[in-house]
Amino acid sequence: MQAGMSFSDLGLSPEVLKAIEDAGYVEPTPIQQEAIPYVLMTRDVLGCAQTGTGKTASFTLPMIDILSSGRAKARMPRSLILTPTRELATQIAENFEIYGKYNKLTMALLIGGVSMDEQTKKLDRGVDVLIATPGRLLDHFERGRILLNDIKVLVIDEADRMLDMGFIPDVEKIVSLLPKIRQTLFFSATMPPEIRRLSDAFLMNPKEVTVAPQSRPAAETVTQKLAVIDQREKREALRRIIKQETVETAIIFCNRKRDVDILDKSLRKHGFNAAGLHGDMDQASRTETLERFKDGKINFLVASDVAARGLDIDDLPVVFNFDVPMHSEDYIHRIGRTGRAGREGRAFSLATPEDGVYVESIETLLGNPIPRIEIDGLDAVDLEEGDGKRRGRSRRSGGRRRAQKSGSGRNPSRDRQEKTNISTSDDENPHQRNKSPDKAARNDNRQAKQKDDRSSKKKEDKARSRRGRGGNNKDQDKSIVGLGDHMPDFLKKPARPS
Ligand code: AMP
Repeated sequence: MQAGMSFSDLGLSPEVLKAIEDAGYVEPTPIQQEAIPYVLMTRDVLGCAQTGTGKTASFTLPMIDILSSGRAKARMPRSLILTPTRELATQIAENFEIYGKYNKLTMALLIGGVSMDEQTKKLDRGVDVLIATPGRLLDHFERGRILLNDIKVLVIDEADRMLDMGFIPDVEKIVSLLPKIRQTLFFSATMPPEIRRLSDAFLMNPKEVTVAPQSRPAAETVTQKLAVIDQREKREALRRIIKQETVETAIIFCNRKRDVDILDKSLRKHGFNAAGLHGDMDQASRTETLERFKDGKINFLVASDVAARGLDIDDLPVVFNFDVPMHSEDYIHRIGRTGRAGREGRAFSLATPEDGVYVESIETLLGNPIPRIEIDGLDAVDLEEGDGKRRGRSRRSGGRRRAQKSGSGRNPSRDRQEKTNISTSDDENPHQRNKSPDKAARNDNRQAKQKDDRSSKKKEDKARSRRGRGGNNKDQDKSIVGLGDHMPDFLKKPARPS
């Protein structure tokens, strides 16, 4: 990596450079520095990099320039990005929107939960960028709605996760349907032999780019604590930690956008100087909120992961995980927002018993258990292990009741109101969303392949569905239709007329 290298040294067009500037990026990350010039030369690239390294921009930025000349024909997309999950597909689509704002590329998403008809209409008019999960793409192909012989650029993202999810046979089938002469960009966080075999088969003379995870050092410079508490006491727990640990300013991460709103309101109601930041806000309000936080006019910024992406805030002393993230890499990413440049950072996570499997995988990634913290006046409970059984017994300190009696400011009617807020939440639940219909539809032919992964996946699914039920929240049991509040803007726009 060359220090001081700028985006303008990489050969990108003025339109893309302007969009990057608008996004507030100052310099390219190592994988961007290394990969972008090769992608622009239409070379194949084998990227060994994980989330958080800027890998998405390392292929989306040059692809925008490659695709900006030429035009898509009906049903014949010009580029294809295969991803294991619809969340990732949506994020990539958002990246294209952000970086491609000065270009006129059309996109379609073929993922479970999005209306097939809408997407078929877009495909009929011709799309430059097709982002798909393998199962849904094959469904469309088999119904004759799509032709893959004009694909000039293929991206396979998070190949190792595809392997974990049993998608490799589908990926191989899709690749066999593509033109032999094409550019292929292949990304994987790890390179087990099976992935190596695939990359050898799919790529021609690739430029290999391996970047060390940027995350680990951050994890080592941040003092981390984890409290295990009852689901219904999370907001109370957060307020107590803020006071107990004299936290003056922090980013507070929630897994769901809806919870960002609820928590933001709740904090303000309790007299904290808070604001929310999530993907549904328009760009102007996002920027304004961020500026106010940076200027110290807001002390607590409640944010979703997506909204927090690209946030460049120096000197953030504390990060809260109001929810334990489902993917351990997201944990590292979140806590990496503090403890930068040798400064001291602290990260507090609130876990509920059902989070056992997620905490376990974070601790495996960290290589260490996260030290536990007890919260004055609240009951400590135990995490459930992967099989859903709770180990040890809940320790009732009775402290909470004591706290209420002693008039610590806790108001029982407010308590009830807060609980009502939780139970009426009709937000889309990411844990449920993860159970992609893609998967369901194509389950049969995958079952044999998935046997090996079954036990660990089973644990995660169990935990997801327990978390998905969210206590007494009936609405969360509904099956998820569409992308809910995660619908990227371009899906709402009509496709470019042909
Ligand atoms: P990714 O590894 O693609 O998931 O990206 C991780 C995060 O880094 C995303 O939130 C991007 O918006 C952000 N990002 C990507 N490139 C840069 C850059 N050059 N400077 C600052 N942030 C970036």
